[in-house]
Amino acid sequence: MVVSLPLLPTMETIPSVLKKYFGFSDFRPYQREVIEKIVEKRDCLVVMATGSGKSLCYQVPPLVVKKTGIVVSPLISLMQDQVMALKQRGIKAEYLGSAQKDFTVHSKAERGQFDILFMTPEKACTVPTSFWSNLLKAGISLLAVDEAHCISEWGHDFRVEYKHLDKLREVLLDVPFVGLTATATEKVRFDIISSLKMDNPYVTIGSFDRTNLFYGVKLLNRGQSFIDELVREISKEVATGGSTIIYCTTIKDVEQIFKSFTEAGIEAGMYHGQMNGKDREESHRLFVRDELQVMVATIAFGMGIDKPNIRQVIHYGCPKSLESYYQESGRCGRDGIASVCWLYYTRSDFAKGDFYCGDVKSEKQRKAVMESLLAAEHYCVLTTCRRKYLLEYFGEKNSADRCGNCDNCKVSKEERDMSREAFLLMACIHSCKGRWGLNMPIDVLRGSRVKKILEAQFDKLPLHGLGKNYPANWWKSLGHQLISRGYLKETVSDVYRTISVSSKGEQFLASSTPDYQPPLILTLTAEMLGEEDNGNTQEEFKTLSTSELEGFSEAEKTFHQMLLEERLELARSVGTAPYAICGDQTIRKISLTRPSTKARLANINGVNQHLVTKYGDHFLQVILKLSQGLNLSLDGEEKVPMASLQTNGVTKVSPLTNKSKKLTSAKFEAWKKWHEDGLSIHEIANLEARSAPIKEQTVAEYLLEAAQEGLPFDWVRFSKMIGLTQEIISEIQGAISKVGSTDKLKPIKNELPEDISYQHIKTYLSMRNSGISLETFQSGSNQTGKDDELAYNASNFPDSTLETCPDRHCEDGISAKSLAEQCDLEMDEVPLPVNSSEEQKLSNASEGEFTRKRQKVSETNEENSTKLKATESSVVEWMKNLDEGATLSTILEHFNGSSEDSVVELINGLECDFLIYRKGNVYRVL
Ligand SMILES: [Zn+2]
Repeated sequence: MVVSLPLLPTMETIPSVLKKYFGFSDFRPYQREVIEKIVEKRDCLVVMATGSGKSLCYQVPPLVVKKTGIVVSPLISLMQDQVMALKQRGIKAEYLGSAQKDFTVHSKAERGQFDILFMTPEKACTVPTSFWSNLLKAGISLLAVDEAHCISEWGHDFRVEYKHLDKLREVLLDVPFVGLTATATEKVRFDIISSLKMDNPYVTIGSFDRTNLFYGVKLLNRGQSFIDELVREISKEVATGGSTIIYCTTIKDVEQIFKSFTEAGIEAGMYHGQMNGKDREESHRLFVRDELQVMVATIAFGMGIDKPNIRQVIHYGCPKSLESYYQESGRCGRDGIASVCWLYYTRSDFAKGDFYCGDVKSEKQRKAVMESLLAAEHYCVLTTCRRKYLLEYFGEKNSADRCGNCDNCKVSKEERDMSREAFLLMACIHSCKGRWGLNMPIDVLRGSRVKKILEAQFDKLPLHGLGKNYPANWWKSLGHQLISRGYLKETVSDVYRTISVSSKGEQFLASSTPDYQPPLILTLTAEMLGEEDNGNTQEEFKTLSTSELEGFSEAEKTFHQMLLEERLELARSVGTAPYAICGDQTIRKISLTRPSTKARLANINGVNQHLVTKYGDHFLQVILKLSQGLNLSLDGEEKVPMASLQTNGVTKVSPLTNKSKKLTSAKFEAWKKWHEDGLSIHEIANLEARSAPIKEQTVAEYLLEAAQEGLPFDWVRFSKMIGLTQEIISEIQGAISKVGSTDKLKPIKNELPEDISYQHIKTYLSMRNSGISLETFQSGSNQTGKDDELAYNASNFPDSTLETCPDRHCEDGISAKSLAEQCDLEMDEVPLPVNSSEEQKLSNASEGEFTRKRQKVSETNEENSTKLKATESSVVEWMKNLDEGATLSTILEHFNGSSEDSVVELINGLECDFLIYRKGNVYRVL
């Protein structure tokens, strides 16, 4: 039986902590559950992909329970970056380690003066017990071990110091332990849990799928001309402000590529193990702070790098394992913006197994190294979806066959029936008795007479020489395809790999004869076509450029670029990284909406309290200046890219129920057919794909709901389709004015002629309520050019609205325009008549409501001292008790003793001060 306990008050503050410090109004998957478990003091193991928001899991609980959180992290530079970014969120963070020059940190930390305290594992194990006992008195909310896979000898980054962290368990008895890692196999997971002596931990394993990353692989032709081309292409990305890391397998490559950048006049950073510590630190610092946009490095660079806005990670040479590839490429696009991971390899990369095994003593570990390299090699030569292969390697079995965002899914490749060649190769491997790698059977097929072949008498095989027509690399490529499709099996023993025919391959051989083979369609790879010079690299780079700003006008693009520069300037002046001020996603949102007030700025996702209080005025000035210069209006509505609508749906909050609702897929489909495919309501209702037609009225309701949810909507076309003319609208307005309310539709309908339907009334109300400006409507009708009837005059709409407001002149100094603006404001907050029920209540939604409010306002002077006045404290106190939050209408209704203007102003102020925040149309207390 499940007993649900009431949430502790601390739990309720979790969402407000998220908005206040991080600027987000929603958690990403898994975060909230983990945070709640930690607050409940349960041990947790968090396995989540880089970029999926792992660190938030340990950053929020200390702020919720108001006790220090200890974070063990492997690298000083990583800790420094994290401390820098947390400080910009107004969080008290510091680190303890050899590089800490401020000697007061230790004693402050001991007294519990930091929200989050980072430590190296060495430090955590060597601070005196008195430190822990003092800090325990102040309170410790958690001990988090970041990059926890370093604890396991099975992990690819084993660090012996991590092994000693278990000692802390005896000291920190009542403190939840949290292990976090981006890559962990089952063995590693088990190791983390047992090494940290976790007690019944809550284990979360998120998806490894980083949907915003594009994966691509290219065969590389080592040489200066290739590097020059690479440098040219990356330079273009640099021009648009994107950061790039180029990972090389050798220091020599790092130096060569770095030199090419310098010669091309591009400032790049360099990072490898032979540089001195100071130079490396400087390189790291400049890159993180966007002073350098390109980093050429060995994999020594960037373990756990905390920079979220890297747009490209390029591997120049095949990495030594798929785990490390996944981790290194995972540093790309951590802010969720589309980013690109390219891997360039040469065949000689695959022969480095011996090299990687150099220091490895045990046979078991050598086998592990070889198998990792083999997996990376398979990834390179794959002809099927790369993402699927990656995900399956990390244990996610149910991914789609084609992701649509990797080179193999995006670029159609030539295919042909290679059943005869496959038969020859498999038969030859079969004859060689599976004791060899791929090279031997290929040499046999190609008719080689080297000593090894003669000794084994393979020259006597009937297959000897039958494959002369193709070069060895052609056959290798075929071999790799047969491996990835399961016809051949490659196994590793010590540092040797052997190839054999799998049972699937045996079946193929059994159903074949030398004259007949069942068809086997395979891909003609670059190796098969002999394309090593990457003639089309440039083309692909172009088509996959990440700098596209979807939905931006030219002026907005300029605005965006200038705002990025302003952020860089600001970051320089305060000595921090631009991303620590605010993320690239947030800059994009600001560029699209251009808020004019602090309240509007505060409402943007990713804007936290610290940013508003510290830099709010500066940002608003810059936004105003740039907008004026570019002739852009302020306070625009954010345009939502279609792609995100389809995946996330659209969530807004209906004030009627105070519950969030989403467009169902049926409604969204109907809207798509109408808006994108141009179908009529009649056509949508009678689609062949439907098992039975649906009512046209239902389709119209769906479309109205989509419009209300903010999807693009052609009101002119819709009005025409349902026969709503301006005459009808005038009549409806007259009827509403007579009835004096839109609480019920029936009385309005009763005032109207028979031929004016409920549909007409609802559409009129929806149009007004959806907050579309009249200009939009008008320009829509201008576009069609023939809707004279519907070419509303921008001035007559507000007027006719005002006519329904008996006390239109009741307030001093309020012009028709500002009243209309208030109407608009009000309309933003009201719901739509979405229910098909004719008696649908429109309680908050209408002129009646508006009228009533104006009346209330005018009445306040003479009557009713019981009416509630809104003050900062009364609003906050009242809202504290509203679990579901409140819409503006609800607030106005409750505080009916204050004028609408003053309430709106008050609410704006509270929002600026982060005492309340808005999510959709609903306000909640922080
Ligand atoms: Zn794919």
